[in-house]
Amino acid sequence: MKDIIIIGAGPAGMTAALYALRADKSVLLLEKENFGGQITFSPRLENYPSIMEISGSEFANQLLDQVVAHGAEIELAEALEIKDMGEYKRVHTDYGDFDGKAVIIATGSKHRHLGLDGEEELIGSGISFCAVCDGSFFADKSVAVIGGGNTALQEAVMLSDICKKVTIIQNLSFMTGEGRLLAILEKKNNVDMIFDTVLTGLEARDGELCAINIKNTKTEEEARFELDGMFVAIGQVPENEAFKNVSALDSYGYIVSDENCLTDTEGVFVAGDCRTKRIRQVTTASADGAVAALAACRYIDGLFAK
Ligand SMILES: Cc1cc2nc3c(=O)[nH]c(=O)nc-3n(C[C@H](O)[C@H](O)[C@H](O)COP(=O)(O)OP(=O)(O)OC[C@H]3O[C@@H](n4cnc5c(N)ncnc54)[C@H](O)[C@@H]3O)c2cc1C
Repeated sequence: MKDIIIIGAGPAGMTAALYALRADKSVLLLEKENFGGQITFSPRLENYPSIMEISGSEFANQLLDQVVAHGAEIELAEALEIKDMGEYKRVHTDYGDFDGKAVIIATGSKHRHLGLDGEEELIGSGISFCAVCDGSFFADKSVAVIGGGNTALQEAVMLSDICKKVTIIQNLSFMTGEGRLLAILEKKNNVDMIFDTVLTGLEARDGELCAINIKNTKTEEEARFELDGMFVAIGQVPENEAFKNVSALDSYGYIVSDENCLTDTEGVFVAGDCRTKRIRQVTTASADGAVAALAACRYIDGLFAK
C-alpha cells in the first residue's frame, strides 16, 4: 500500500510526486508511455520561470531525476480504472493492480487527429504530430503544418529551419497563435500560409503520404497539394474515459475541477492539463501538482476539509 498513487508522469504528476515525497509520503508514479509528458515534444521551453531556455526533454529528464532522487517509485503501466475501496483506492492497470490511500490523476492530454480516411495508417509514414521528434526526417523536403495556434506556429518555426518549404494551412481567416511567432514566420521566405482552408482527403504512394486534398471554405474551391510530410497541430484531447466513475467529465472530456484540484470522489485528486482550466502550460500543470499533492497529504493525515 502506497500513500499516494499518481497517474501520469508529466510536469503535473512529477511536481505532485516531489511535493508528496517532501511531505514524507510514499509515492508510486504510473506512466503509460513517455516520462515527462507533452513537454518532451517541445524543442525549447522558454517560459518556465528562472530558466532562460531548455529543451523539453532535458527539462523532463531533470524533473524525473529529481523525483527519483527524492524516493519516488516509478512503474511503466497504463491506469485503466480507479476503484474506490473506501479506506483506500485501487488503481487497475495493464500491469496489475496497485493500492494507495489517495490517488492523483495527472494524465494530461493528447494530440487531436483530423479524422480523415487513412490518417491512422499514415501516422509515422508522412503524418507527424511533433516537429522536434520527426522534423529531421523531412530535411530539404516540403511539408504542411495544419493549424494556426501556438503549437502550429512553433512547429512551423522549427520546420522552416529544416525543410525546403513549409505551408501552414489554417481553417480560419487568421492565425490564433502569438503575434511574436507569426512575425518570425512572416520574415521567412520558405513559409507560406493558406487561410480558410480545410483538408478533405489524404493520398499515399507506396504507403507514404504524398498529397493532400484541400478545400477553401469560402470559395468552395478544391485543390490537390503535393507534399512530403504533414504536421498536425490542431489541439489536444484529454484521455479521461477510464476515470469517469470517480469524477464528472465536461463535454470535451476534461475532469471537472477547479484550482483546488478536487474530484467528485474523496481521496482522488486531479492536476494539470487533464482538468477543466483555461491555461494549459507547464507552470499551471506544476502549480496543480503542488496543490493536489498537499491536498492528498492532508486527506491521508485526516486533516482534509473541502
Ligand atoms: C509541442 C509542444 C510544445 C509546448 N511548449 C510549451 C512551452 O513552451 N511552455 C509551456 O509552458 N508549455 C508548453 N507546452 C504545454 C505543456 O507541455 C503542457 O501544458 C504540460 O506538459 C501539461 O503537463 P501535464 O503533466 O498536465 O500533462 P502531460 O504533459 O500531458 O503529461 C501527462 C502524462 O500522463 C500520461 N498518461 C496519460 N494517461 C495515462 C494513463 N491512463 N496511465 C498512465 N499514464 C498516463 C501520459 O503518457 C503523459 O506522459 C507544449 C506542449 C506541446 C505538445
